[in-house]
Amino acid sequence: MDASHFDLIVIGTGPGGEGAAMQAAKHGKKVAVADRWARVGGGCTHLATIPSKALRFAIFQMTEANNNKLFREAGISINLTFPELRKSARGVIDQQVEMRRTFYDRNRVPVYQGLARFVDPHTVEVISDEGGTQRLSGDFFVIAVGARPYRPPGVDFTHPRIFDSETILDLAFTPQSITIYGAGVVGCEYASMFRNLGVKVNLVNTRDKLLEFLDDEIIDALAYHMRERGVLIRHREECLRVEGRDDGVVVFLKSGKQLKTDVLLWANGRTGNTDLLGLDKIGIVPDSRGNLPVNDDFQTSVPHVYAVGDVIGFPSLASAAYVQGRFATSHLLGQPCARSMVRDIPAGIYTTPEISSVGRTERQLTEASVPYEVGHALFRSLARAQITGQTTGMLKILFHRETLEILGVHCFGANASEIIHIGQAIFAQPAPNNTLMYFINTTFNYPTMAEAYRVAALNGYNRLF
Ligand SMILES: Cc1cc2nc3c(=O)[nH]c(=O)nc-3n(C[C@H](O)[C@H](O)[C@H](O)COP(=O)(O)OP(=O)(O)OC[C@H]3O[C@@H](n4cnc5c(N)ncnc54)[C@H](O)[C@@H]3O)c2cc1C
Repeated sequence: MDASHFDLIVIGTGPGGEGAAMQAAKHGKKVAVADRWARVGGGCTHLATIPSKALRFAIFQMTEANNNKLFREAGISINLTFPELRKSARGVIDQQVEMRRTFYDRNRVPVYQGLARFVDPHTVEVISDEGGTQRLSGDFFVIAVGARPYRPPGVDFTHPRIFDSETILDLAFTPQSITIYGAGVVGCEYASMFRNLGVKVNLVNTRDKLLEFLDDEIIDALAYHMRERGVLIRHREECLRVEGRDDGVVVFLKSGKQLKTDVLLWANGRTGNTDLLGLDKIGIVPDSRGNLPVNDDFQTSVPHVYAVGDVIGFPSLASAAYVQGRFATSHLLGQPCARSMVRDIPAGIYTTPEISSVGRTERQLTEASVPYEVGHALFRSLARAQITGQTTGMLKILFHRETLEILGVHCFGANASEIIHIGQAIFAQPAPNNTLMYFINTTFNYPTMAEAYRVAALNGYNRLF
């Protein structure tokens, strides 16, 4: 048997690649993985999800401690700089890399370090940092190479005060003020983090609203709470030019406004990492953003080559990348895999307040003329929230007024991204088990945040006539 021939070759060891490789290995397939970085885990582990969430938690802990009455009375106050807070991520990244590496080792999946590029439809060349080249051939391929921040020409990212969502992690001081250009998920999350650190934040949105894919009530709540905390949000603005100076950065907007802050975080768009893959050799054409078009089964225009994760665009979540990887491998192996897994992907957004949702929004249901009703639970009316003091938040359930089927669950407030999964568990059930009655007829621990489901369900049910 040819040692360098594999049933499946996966390019990228982020969540997309890992999901794809493990699914094939568990089914006894001969799998190889290639990654340009020696340490597995992908952009997710090294530059995006893990460092940003570890940083967020460090900021949260510091602000919690500083706002705690007991600590204040004892004269304890913590004042860590941005780089000190950042350090906390390193341990988590190492743990993640070590653990994920064992998945490949235990399942006997060789990881080839090097930049992979196609030389023909069934062969890739992997060029290692040392310059060695290895040729690997495969029956199938999964491309899971992720994306990188989009850098527009004309913005000087070598300037020491101008950052993108990857380089911001190397910020060597705590700025007094920051402009964040781009109010997508990454922009909003960083706006919350910097504001929680006491930094003055300008959040520039090129669109009409923040995070337009969310339910309107949640969008309004996010904008309200961010503003209330002091984030200055400017909608419908477009950048004309950026000027990096010794003492700050000036962003000139097409509307005539000028914003001067200590630093600029450019968080507007991402580009798929497809440019170095040699796709011209196999006839796959990325779109203008470097993303790969795929069908519902994650096949590219070349059917034995699949693509998953950020390189295919929306929703660009680690959670989605992982399940897409598993789905793609199941498909190429001819194994059954629930389509709902890749269709009903929840959103988890780590702003302040945290946001999470699954299913359809009120806007979508109204447009589709679905007769729905809505039930709300405000966190401030829950005993658990009153005890913890985390009373900002709301859970809302959208359900069909005739069948009582759950159509969408939307939540903001502390731990929203955990709370959503209770609703998702019922939402994902086939009829007739997906029903509002579950929340009405279930005993919830008291006091819990989960109780919000009963409160919201009764609130909505009582509206029916
Ligand atoms: C600041 C930030 C915060 C985020 N927070 C969250 C969050 O809280 N929750 C969430 O679900 N998602 C979050 N995301 C999104 C998440 O990080 C991505 O969706 C996820 O990393 C995508 O996984 P992936 O497998 O597609 O690619 P990646 O994780 O980017 O991995 C791609 C891998 O491919 C390798 N590669 C690229 N080109 C080649 C090549 N030619 N040859 C060999 N190897 C190659 C790279 O080295 C890399 O290891 C965040 C993103 C950002 C930017």
